[in-house]
Amino acid sequence: MPLATATQRAPAAEQDAGTIALTDVSFENTLAAALPGDPVLDNRPRQVRHAAYSRVEPTPVREPRILAWADAVGDLLGIARPESPLGIEAQVFGGNKVLPGMKPYAARYGGHQFGHWAGQLGDGRAITLGETIGADGGRYELQLKGAGRTPYSRTADGRAVLRSSVREFMCSEAMHYLGVPTTRALALVGTGEAVVRDMFYDGNAAPEPGAIVCRVAPTFVRFGNFQILAAQQEPDLLKRLADYVITTHYAELGAPSPEVYTRWFEEICRRTALMVAEWMRVGFVHGVMNTDNMSILGLTIDYGPYGWLEGYEPGWTPNTTDAQGRRYCYGNQPQIALWNLVQLANALIALVGDKAPLEQALAAYGETYTREWRRMLGEKFGIEAIEGDEDDKLVNDGFELMQDVETDMTLFFRGLARVPLAADADNAAMVEPLRRAFYTDEALEPEHLSRMAQWLRRYAARVRTDGAAPEARVARMNRANPKYVLRNYLAQLAIDALELGDASVIERLMRVLERPYDEQPENDDLADKRPEWARNRPGCSALSCSS
Ligand code: AMP
Ligand code: MG
Repeated sequence: MPLATATQRAPAAEQDAGTIALTDVSFENTLAAALPGDPVLDNRPRQVRHAAYSRVEPTPVREPRILAWADAVGDLLGIARPESPLGIEAQVFGGNKVLPGMKPYAARYGGHQFGHWAGQLGDGRAITLGETIGADGGRYELQLKGAGRTPYSRTADGRAVLRSSVREFMCSEAMHYLGVPTTRALALVGTGEAVVRDMFYDGNAAPEPGAIVCRVAPTFVRFGNFQILAAQQEPDLLKRLADYVITTHYAELGAPSPEVYTRWFEEICRRTALMVAEWMRVGFVHGVMNTDNMSILGLTIDYGPYGWLEGYEPGWTPNTTDAQGRRYCYGNQPQIALWNLVQLANALIALVGDKAPLEQALAAYGETYTREWRRMLGEKFGIEAIEGDEDDKLVNDGFELMQDVETDMTLFFRGLARVPLAADADNAAMVEPLRRAFYTDEALEPEHLSRMAQWLRRYAARVRTDGAAPEARVARMNRANPKYVLRNYLAQLAIDALELGDASVIERLMRVLERPYDEQPENDDLADKRPEWARNRPGCSALSCSS
């Protein structure tokens, strides 16, 4: 919960007894200990070879201040909520102080960007502080994003603006509560320094407030960490990195061997498929699915110009840089994840010795995705199991209707649970629960209404054949169809307020998004479709990569 306005501790009842002061937490760094680092110790931009990472200290900032704090993540890590926004937590997560046990580093990785091999990228503005063991026994890496230049910054400044940091902080938590595999965020820190960005890439660079997010995940290793080692022909290090990831994060697979590498890759395929299916379920568009933004653990990682589908439109992408090609639009995501996995497989061939087993393992992606998406469709539509051509046609026709006239995906599915199913229900009553999802009057024209009602009749008839208990059906649908998502314009409202020093908007949103499937009638306004003023406002509909 944010601290910008309220710095008091949460009421005693909400305090987790298991937390200790940040300065008492023990940190280690198993990745840095297990793998070779870059012998050069400064942050000058360079090509790094034969190292998994470069040691680099965060660059101190003028006036670090905790702007928001995620209590649930603090509890998970056993770190107590800061008593003051200007205390030791601000110093550490602002990059001004490194605690004992932390050995900050930036990771070396490469990647395919928009389908093309981009060579060395690396943590250009992310710096890992260290790892700690969480309350659940898991290992968690704490990483600052926006903490200053690293050897991988190339010509950029290593910093991040407040707007993009707020978006990463809020969305990673929102995704967690939606049940989507994701990295988490512990703290949002204002730096007290300006960062210059050309938001529209039109030559009008302007200063904006800077910020840092402390994000948290078992590891931030990406597909690209392996790709760079394969591309630059460092097979020994490739093997060491794979062995580290398997023994530390996939221990259940057993000791590394060619068979285990294949099983590991298969598991990555499975997890990636599940992650993308979850994105599709909640209407999330990542926006930049480059292979350097694909987590080796199958977590949603690197929140940049992401967005949420409002009007259902498979071709939609929030990323203005991708407006032409639409490579990373909503509907392409499943296929792009597969393409990315193929690139990872290519990088792992040296470990397995043969590409055939990896090609076979890749099938796990399609199988998992198809199975999970089908299951989710059943839940979303409130049909026990989507099976056979008739069901496929029903579902596809439903999506087509949503696309024909601009229809909010989230509100449509939430409303669908309330559509009367009786054979004698009249058209108006059937369409009524969906009205809130329509963006334009076109949807209310008799022709569209009657097509919608016709589809709803087919739909209701199909649901009746299941004979499911109505309450159980609605409850199942509501668990798959969130009422509250981090709509693009809501994130922007939170940013606008925070830029003026008002944390109440982010505070309220974060609280509501902790229970996205609950009705919360008192927060109904936050479930509304995007207002017209937000249709073309930057940040509300389209986002640049400038962050
Ligand atoms: P992204 O598109 O955010 O995944 O970033 C692609 C690459 O650019 C990564 O290597 C980032 O670390 C790097 N990068 C992005 N923004 C900055 C920045 N402001 N300073 C340094 N490196 C950056
Ligand atoms: Mg990235």
